[in-house]
Amino acid sequence: MATFSCGACGMVLTPDLTHAPGELTRPEYAGRGPGPATIRRGFFAIDPEPFGAPFVPADDQDDCPHAMPGLAKIVDGVFVLSAGPRNTIVVHPDDAHSLRPHPEDSRLTGCCGPNGTEGPNLVCPCGAEVATLMADCYGPRELHFDPYRVSSSEDEVPAANRTLTGRQQQKV
Ligand SMILES: [Zn+2]
Repeated sequence: MATFSCGACGMVLTPDLTHAPGELTRPEYAGRGPGPATIRRGFFAIDPEPFGAPFVPADDQDDCPHAMPGLAKIVDGVFVLSAGPRNTIVVHPDDAHSLRPHPEDSRLTGCCGPNGTEGPNLVCPCGAEVATLMADCYGPRELHFDPYRVSSSEDEVPAANRTLTGRQQQKV
């Protein structure tokens, strides 16, 4: 079990959450209306892939590469890939009630909800940018804490991150 706190002010931002180990799997999604949540309430997972902004041009432009989970992004006519942080902490959006929408509307771009492509879009009540919410109608619904902007009550979590990252690198 672990809770996650704001790295700036120390406020606890989640209830006690259980680590869901293994690969992050996203439920099948029909593509209409808000997508299903990737993580059940009460759990968290570590996403070993780079997540969110900034974005860099993709080497392979032919295969419609995804910049975000389930979502391609084109900048100046070029498909881009995430160069954001690895090992973001993925939780159910309803397990972080104290977070507020980012005060800049440009961060909240999306159709039915923020798509998360414009950088962190949720802030701690103290104002610190701590998380990115994906909750649009054409992708999965998940909240990613930036691992560099929150701290964990559980020492094992950073170790789990390193193990997952190592396994991911071996696969490539
Ligand atoms: Zn804070």
